[in-house]
Amino acid sequence: MQLSRFSLNVYKHFAEDMEVDGEKPDIGFKQRGYLFLATEKMMPQFEKNMMLQHRNGVDSQLLDIEDLRGLIPELTISDLAGGLYCSESGYLDAYSVMQGYIKYAKHLGAEYIYEEVSDLLIEGQQMKGVRLKNGETCTAPVVVNCGGAWGAQLSEKAGIKFSIVPSPRQIFQFDCEKKLKNYLPLTMDPTGVYFRHEGEQMIAGYSEPIRSDFDFSWRREDFIENVWPPLAHRIPNFERVKIVRGWAGIYDYNTEDHNAIIGQYPKIEGYYVAFGFSGHGMQQAPGVGKGMSELIRKGKYETIDLSPLRPERFAEHQLVIEDAIY
Ligand SMILES: Cc1cc2nc3c(=O)[nH]c(=O)nc-3n(C[C@H](O)[C@H](O)[C@H](O)COP(=O)(O)OP(=O)(O)OC[C@H]3O[C@@H](n4cnc5c(N)ncnc54)[C@H](O)[C@@H]3O)c2cc1C
Repeated sequence: MQLSRFSLNVYKHFAEDMEVDGEKPDIGFKQRGYLFLATEKMMPQFEKNMMLQHRNGVDSQLLDIEDLRGLIPELTISDLAGGLYCSESGYLDAYSVMQGYIKYAKHLGAEYIYEEVSDLLIEGQQMKGVRLKNGETCTAPVVVNCGGAWGAQLSEKAGIKFSIVPSPRQIFQFDCEKKLKNYLPLTMDPTGVYFRHEGEQMIAGYSEPIRSDFDFSWRREDFIENVWPPLAHRIPNFERVKIVRGWAGIYDYNTEDHNAIIGQYPKIEGYYVAFGFSGHGMQQAPGVGKGMSELIRKGKYETIDLSPLRPERFAEHQLVIEDAIY
């Protein structure tokens, strides 16, 4: 929550802060809120979640059926008791964020090398750099492995294992004949299906079973079988839809506690990791970058204490469990 709050503020001002030569990056940040829909049975847990969120400065609220209908007039509410909503939350274009950061880093003097890293170079207990696939070597006393779903594999080549698997997720973009009255918040259905506007169209996904696979294939039939029935039930306008396109991405899924692993690997001086985000890395990325920078430059966290996410937590049995993985 602390990471997300920090990051939200960065995204709000991203265009101005990352401006280079009069050009402001457009990350398409839309603060249309996050809405978790709840059945009667889910409400007590949502109430607990809300209280925890309030203690961490997140301005969320429990909604009743009337409130839900106010947000989404077309919503089927017969099997719902309410929802948990945060109006400040939003969504953005992840690729544009990355491009914005790259451009600004170059502007500040960073050298950006677009090459695959084939090996980590470690001597004894000291990080020495990386070898690139083209055969070149980059020497460095500090290396940050932020290789997403591929990061753990690279680490394993150096004999350092992490409990992260690549887990594919699909997104489906569709158009519906009968338009909705309001723009949707990112809405999570109790079935695990989620949906929101994408421009004037919609996108949706669902909580796919975890499977360790670098599979980027996109299956239209998954929409028909797993996504469409809950969608059509929840919003009758979605009974008549046309699939426009879709894509697949890969979660770097931490099988132990479903949260990122951040910090210096204890046995190797200079080897830092930031991966295992398990599908919620965009909302944490700016905060993670800030923390990582402080840890490397100053040897300690100053802005947000990220030590609960340290690599050692597994051996120490200090898991930080995240249950809301979609
Ligand atoms: C379908 C889907 C929906 C999502 N929805 C959300 C959401 O709603 N909210 C949210 O917060 N997050 C969401 N996420 C998760 C979010 O996108 C990720 O957590 C985030 O992008 C992770 O960023 P990263 O930089 O750690 O890893 P990545 O974005 O995976 O970047 C890792 C980079 O490292 C490169 N790389 C890997 N190995 C090597 C190597 N050996 N040499 C050189 N380069 C290498 C890769 O090519 C890649 O560019 C979603 C992800 C998916 C797939």
